[in-house]
Amino acid sequence: MNKKHLDHKCGVFGIMHHPQSLHLTYLGVFALQHRGQEAAGIYGCYSDLAQDPFLMRGIGLVHDVFDKQVLAQTELNHAVGHVRYSTSGSKQSQSVHPLIHEKRFAFCHNGNIPKGDVTRSHGTDSEMLFTKILEGYDPAHPLASLKESLIGVEGAYCLIIMTPEGLCYARDPWGIRPLVLGYVEEAPVVCSETCALDLIGATFTREVEPGEVGFIPFKENRLEVDYLPKSSAMSQKCVFELIYFSRPDSTVFGHGVYETRKELGRLLAKSQPVEADLVMAVPDSGVPASLGYAETSGISWDVGLIRNHYIHRTFIEPTHGVRHLGVKIKHNPIRDVVAGKRLVLVDDSLVRSTTSLKIIKLLKQCGAKEVTLAVSSPPMMWPCFYGVDTPNRDELIAAQMSVEKIRERINADRLVYLPLEDLQEYFGEKYCYACFNGKYKVATEEVTSLLEE
Ligand code: SF4
Repeated sequence: MNKKHLDHKCGVFGIMHHPQSLHLTYLGVFALQHRGQEAAGIYGCYSDLAQDPFLMRGIGLVHDVFDKQVLAQTELNHAVGHVRYSTSGSKQSQSVHPLIHEKRFAFCHNGNIPKGDVTRSHGTDSEMLFTKILEGYDPAHPLASLKESLIGVEGAYCLIIMTPEGLCYARDPWGIRPLVLGYVEEAPVVCSETCALDLIGATFTREVEPGEVGFIPFKENRLEVDYLPKSSAMSQKCVFELIYFSRPDSTVFGHGVYETRKELGRLLAKSQPVEADLVMAVPDSGVPASLGYAETSGISWDVGLIRNHYIHRTFIEPTHGVRHLGVKIKHNPIRDVVAGKRLVLVDDSLVRSTTSLKIIKLLKQCGAKEVTLAVSSPPMMWPCFYGVDTPNRDELIAAQMSVEKIRERINADRLVYLPLEDLQEYFGEKYCYACFNGKYKVATEEVTSLLEE
């Protein structure tokens, strides 16, 4: 998938009661880098509020933003961190999280709050929500006041907030984005994905429940939990977390991500069998599904494309004179593997089709006899309003043309998708499939105006 056009908004991390909390938060946000590459920030504080807190944030990747020496030399008890892909609001440094209020409140948000009683007048959705929570905050009852502020807020959110009393967290009642709880030694950790727990040697305890609000005070290491009003019918976990967004080494919504992607490849091979000589992946996102496809189809698997991992957003595009070489900058086929073969090229999703078009052209230039593009998710036809940056409908290729027309456009010999019914049968009704079927279960202003168009 061309990640340039489909991104997460954010990853969040928080840890309490650990003397190396700052350094562990750095490692935590490093593990969550795939959830946001535009900006990063860490806020840390001591239990003794007389001492000044620590704050470091900026535009760029985690390893660019933080001064590792300062992090290693600063011992703090409590910290929160954030990686951001800025879509709602500006990319200016003032909207980089954690958002800070009077040095003592640090706010980290993953998701999108398009509606509710959060007034959308100025600033980002996160800033609105932060203001609302601050206005309702009661230092004598941090958890109860947080809960009160969140009742009626519609949209996707996972929040981690450091307050002068301790760390608060919350997950929206639909459970759209993931949030997990674990412990490193005795220290509690809350973060977006289990891969961040793994990196710091923490033990995964459980998922934060949809609608759960929690509080860990500075005064003692204990966890208070409460729940926002919800019903089980509301569950709308983002199926795309499992198809593409989350790291394959994470466990998300109770599913091992890698194994789930492999299973989607198996389902794809069952429903869309193809006669071919070789199964290969669009690296890296298509690898697990391609292995599943090969396993079920019995067709051999190999690495047919090499991806350059060192391309950053700052990469200087080739000048006009050498632009024709640009395609190979990111992916280059292995001629000996693909020449003369009928290929099944597996990817996890197809957004605009630009990358697929280029890759198929390259494979054919290297002598591939046939290329079937096999996509381990259904056609993506609708934008996401719940914390993922998707293109508008007029840029989503499957919303604009038939499967046959897309096949022609990308010059594939066949184009097959995993049917939506297979995906829904596998995951069940507690998931959001709106980017495939347009059924947005969490009503938002953006959804209403889209459907009125
Ligand atoms: S619309 Fe798609 S990407 Fe957005 S939450 Fe639903 S399944 Fe996830």
